[in-house]
Order: sequence, then C-alpha cells, then structure tokens
Amino acid sequence: MYLYNSATRKREEFVPNHPDIVKMYTCGPTVYHYAHIGNLRSYIMEDVLEKTLRYAGYNVKRVMNITDVGHLASDADTGEDKMLKGARREHKTVMEIAKFYTDAFFDDCKKLNIKYPDVVEPATNCIDQYIKIISGLLEKGYAYQAGGNVYFDTSKLERYYIFNDHDEEDLAVGVREGVEEDTNKRNKNDFVLWFTKSKFEDQALKWDSPWGVGYPGWHIECSGISMKYLGEDLDIHCGGIDNAFPHHTNEIAQSESYLGHKWCNYWVHVHHLNTNTGKMSKSKGEFLTVNLLESKGYDPLVYRLFCLQSHYRKNLVFSYENLDNAAVTYQKLITRIAALTPDDTQEIDRAAFDACKEKFLAALGNDLNTSLALTAVYDVLKYKTNDATKLALLADFDQVLSLDLIQRAEKKRQELEAAPKAGGFAIVGEDGASDPQVEALITARQDAKKAKNFGEADRIRDQLKEQGIEITDVPGGVKWKRI
Ligand code: AMP
Ligand code: ZN
Repeated sequence: MYLYNSATRKREEFVPNHPDIVKMYTCGPTVYHYAHIGNLRSYIMEDVLEKTLRYAGYNVKRVMNITDVGHLASDADTGEDKMLKGARREHKTVMEIAKFYTDAFFDDCKKLNIKYPDVVEPATNCIDQYIKIISGLLEKGYAYQAGGNVYFDTSKLERYYIFNDHDEEDLAVGVREGVEEDTNKRNKNDFVLWFTKSKFEDQALKWDSPWGVGYPGWHIECSGISMKYLGEDLDIHCGGIDNAFPHHTNEIAQSESYLGHKWCNYWVHVHHLNTNTGKMSKSKGEFLTVNLLESKGYDPLVYRLFCLQSHYRKNLVFSYENLDNAAVTYQKLITRIAALTPDDTQEIDRAAFDACKEKFLAALGNDLNTSLALTAVYDVLKYKTNDATKLALLADFDQVLSLDLIQRAEKKRQELEAAPKAGGFAIVGEDGASDPQVEALITARQDAKKAKNFGEADRIRDQLKEQGIEITDVPGGVKWKRI
C-alpha cells in the first residue's frame, strides 16, 4: 500500500512500526457547532483509509479526540475559546454544548457510514496527561513561562516547519490583521501549552496545575491523547490540510521534544471542500450540514459517493449541481445492482472474484485512488461472470466504500416487486434516474387521479412535458424519462 506522506512530500510504501497493529490518530471535531460537510469530507476519507487498511489485512487501532476546550478563535492562540462562544450563542453551558454537538457529530457519521473510532476521548478528560508532558518540556528547556502562560519555544528546534519550508514572516499566524499580537512570546510561532492568563477571564473550564489554575492549549490535546492510548509512536496521523500548520506542526514539535525521538511516520492530509466563495468553514457562519442536505431530499450516502468520486488530495468544489449528478450516479448504480439475478445454483467464480478484487485493492493501495476503486465497481458489473459472483464482490468492496450497495439494491428490488401486488405505487426513472422534483410532481399527479381530479392530473403531465419529462403509466407505478 502506498500513501502520500505530507511530511516527506513523497508517495511512500506504507510499513507499520509494529507487525500486529497500525496505530492511527485522527484530529476530531471542535464541538461548538454542527460539523459542516467540509469537515465530514475529511472524516469520510479518513474512514476510507482506516477501512482500506483493515481490508488489506491490518489490525488498526484508531483514536480520535473531541476538542471541548482550548481551541481559540484564531489557531494562533488568540481570541476567545470557540466552546465559550458556542455556549454564549445558545445560552447553555460549555459542557451542554459539547455533549450536544458531539452527539450530533456522531449522528452525522452514522448517516455517512463512518465507523466509530476504537477510542474517542474528550480533551477535558486528559488534563493530567497534558500536565505531565508540559512539565517534561519545561524540564528539558523546550518551554518557558511568560505572563502567566506556558509557551513552547520553537527556536529550540533545528527544524520546526515540517510540512512547508516557510519564511517565518509569511507564517506569522499570530499577527493577522485585527488580531492582537501576544507580546509574551519569544518567537512569533511559539505557541501556548497552558493558559492561566488570557484576555478572556470568563473561560468556563479551568483546572489546577503547577503553573496556576488554567486550561490547556489546543495542540497539546492531540499529543497527550495520542500518547495516552497509542504510546510513544504513531503510524498514521490524519486531519484536514488546514491542520498541517500550525496544529500538526506544533504537535510534532512538542511530541518529539518531549519523547526525544521521532513520533509519527505518515501524515495524511485531506484537502478542502470548497464552495464558489472559498473554503467551507464554521467560523464563516453559513455552512452546509448533513441535516440540511437531508431536508432537501438528499440521501447522505450520495454525499459520501460524491466525496469518493474525487481524490482526497485535490480540493473538491461543492455545488448542488455536482451533488445532483452524484445522486443520479448512485441511483443508476443501485438499479443496476438490483437487476442482478443470482440463483442458488451459481457458485462463486474464484478466478473472476480474485481478478476484480485485485484491481479494487490496487486502486485503493495507490494513495487511496477512490475514483478508480469506483471504476472497479463498474468493471464488476461488466465482467463476464455469474451474478452471484458479482454480488459477492460488491458486498466485499462495500466493506470499504460503505455505500450500502447490497442493502439499497435489495430494497429497490423489493419495492419494484411489491408495488403492483400491494396496490402500491413505484416511480422509476429511466436508467435509474432520480429527481426529487420530478418524483414529487408524479406523486401529485397520482394523488389528483385518485381524487378523480383528472384536469389537474393532465395539467401536471403537461407541466412535466414542458420540463422535458415523459411519463408512462405502467402496472404498479409510473416510468419516466428525459426527452
Ligand atoms: P474542526 O472541527 O474545526 O476542528 O475541524 C475538524 C476537521 O475538519 C479538521 O481535520 C479540519 O482540518 C477539517 N476541515 C475543516 N474545514 C474543512 C473543509 N472545508 N474541507 C475539508 N476538511 C475540513
Ligand atoms: Zn489534532
């Protein structure tokens, strides 16, 4: 298996540190608001990575944090804690906000078939762990106290910028326009390990520490939680590309300084979901959620498919038109699978199975080429073999794709079969086409017919025709196609 490693900027063969386990860490959500579908792009692709590793035979232990303290409005440790902002917005306590949005996040994950990690740990559960690491860093001279806070001293490192060779001035994340510079810092990119003093004295959650009552910085959380559950080394660390700097850069700085050796071997970064106005982000206020897509009639798995259609290291542009295309592709695929007719006499064609599986695994093993893996699905449907083998292959692939291919196809088959018998009503688009608006109009026409309002029924048929849709009444329902 080959993965692109952001730390070396090379595609590398994946070799785990230990033969019996792959240690994987993923930065979890900051739970002050719903996850937007951009965040969820990262989690979908990380899910594909984890499932690919398992599919390839590795035993994976995946750990994820929940950021419920310390992530300030600016990634450079300035501004207010995002959690506090969320609590104020909703007139609730920080812990209520954290619980609500953590649950909401995992509900979204469930809808998108993202597996629950082996360990999920809220940052507020591991304060002792951060204090241990910060004490070690102070002892070794990698950290200093100033103005009541504890800072990591980036000038102590030979190489601080791991992911990019930046000019320090360009990367002065602390001095963005409108954001006050922290004059306690000795170097521009020094970062806070422990806060006791910030401008926002009303920070809700505080703990005792050797440096006074306060709270941890955001970066130390991921190092601490990772070491607590995965020990002193890590195979793969994931996150969105915006986390590469400063968050992951700082995680590496503090972890390796504390441990005295290399910490994580592979860094996998998922690129952004953008809208036509740029990166989707929670702080912009307006963003798209899974619930919103559902309320517009989209199946969450259509969004998963939409993500799988492109490579995780390319920015992906979201538009409803693109999502509609994914919806049509999904419906067509499900319809084709529903049309497979295996029977009990068919045996699995081993040669065909192995050949198709090899192609699928090769696509994923090539730095998670998910669009090629989807092509391997269509190759199965075209392959000269029996339908039992095709279904077995699709079920096998779906362990990674998680598009519910078999379940949805079975449901579709049952719906089509049951409709005439039950006096039910099926709406079938040609080639599996699906369009919520067309389907709504056809249903309205059916209702009008039932109510013997044939004038209205004819009007709807004409309206559909004007939109280029031709409908045909068939036993048990209506077929439609674009003309
Ligand atoms: P947050 O909840 O803000 O801590 O972010 C959770 C995860 O989503 C992190 O791994 C981010 O890097 C990632 N992320 C944030 N915005 C986007 C985006 N527009 N597209 C893809 N991933 C994102
Ligand atoms: Zn993190």
